[in-house]
Amino acid sequence: MARLTIIKQDNPLIRKQSKIVDDFSPRLHEILDNMQETLFHARGMGLAAIQVGILYRMAVIITEEYGVVEIINPIIKTAKNQRVDSEGCLSCPGISGRVRRPHLVTLEYQDRNGKKHTQTFRGIDAVCCCHEIDHMNGILFIDKMEQ
Ligand SMILES: [Zn+2]
Repeated sequence: MARLTIIKQDNPLIRKQSKIVDDFSPRLHEILDNMQETLFHARGMGLAAIQVGILYRMAVIITEEYGVVEIINPIIKTAKNQRVDSEGCLSCPGISGRVRRPHLVTLEYQDRNGKKHTQTFRGIDAVCCCHEIDHMNGILFIDKMEQ
């Protein structure tokens, strides 16, 4: 495994749209393994592929409820319980702020083998999923920060 470089908010790549993942080969697994190592080392909660310069719709999340979850091609099916909570991002070092997000989210996504899942995430896990899906659309939490 190898640690990858996390790009920061001033890198124009971070604003790009990520593409659908359609190749679930060992090459994908290698990227996801490296993303996991990068996330653990950075002591973050979530890392989207775009944050390591890979423009595909996937992220690794360390959840409270399920442990490490890889969400590939995620789609938000339901989003409830909007609340404001404190947030940060590995691509925006030194910045934290309050963001309104759903705290109960049901996602459809694929795992690293392409298998489809429907799963409900709660609390900070739901926030993290929405934060990472925003990354896949070129959106940063600082765009949504409240006063
Ligand atoms: Zn982030």
